[in-house]
Amino acid sequence: MPFFRTPALLRHAFPSCYWQIPKPLHEQPTLYLTFDDGPVPEATPDVLDVLDRYGVKASFFCVGDNVRKHPALFREVLRAGHTVGNHTFHHVKGWQTSLTHYLKEVSMCRHVMEDTAGTALPRLFRPPYGRITPKQLCALRKDYAIVMWDILTHDYDPRLQADALIPQLKPLLRHGSILVFHDSIKAYPRMIRLLPAIIEAALARGFSFATLEEGLAPTLHALTPTASYKSSS
Ligand SMILES: [Zn+2]
Repeated sequence: MPFFRTPALLRHAFPSCYWQIPKPLHEQPTLYLTFDDGPVPEATPDVLDVLDRYGVKASFFCVGDNVRKHPALFREVLRAGHTVGNHTFHHVKGWQTSLTHYLKEVSMCRHVMEDTAGTALPRLFRPPYGRITPKQLCALRKDYAIVMWDILTHDYDPRLQADALIPQLKPLLRHGSILVFHDSIKAYPRMIRLLPAIIEAALARGFSFATLEEGLAPTLHALTPTASYKSSS
């Protein structure tokens, strides 16, 4: 059985990362939906449609090379009021990448995102596969809020069925949870069925949704070096 909730041992190994939003802005129970690996035309527009239908704002950890290939789609994500974060340029594995190369990957991703957006963006980073070495983490956390997750949906696993995942995931929702979905071709068949089911279950239980930019606003403002950065909220 896969882990849906991140084990406490792993959280304790990386205490400087965000696994949940510790002090949610609102009194009301709030969830943070995140989508990794886009933007791609085969998945991201449908995610935007679902989020729009429910009036939900979310956060997208983008792969720089996908932003380069699909700049208009990236701008569409921003225009819809969602937050974007950095997921490296080529979706590299931290454990197999030197510190210098890893930092270059993050920097390339930031540049293509900010050039495409035409503005500075919030300093959010999620390591691909959740794999990052202590040295990489130490170097990046000076400039970025490193965001992991509370609940992994396993939407990328073709051995699992969306119908079986939904009842496993619903009881795990809690105030401040960060959920990971993927706007990727591989995850699409499960993700596109899970997403509305999870949103509806959450709304029925009184949860609201916010972006990581809202949930981590004080941290992000402290990290942002330029005066040009403005919170979209
Ligand atoms: Zn990824």
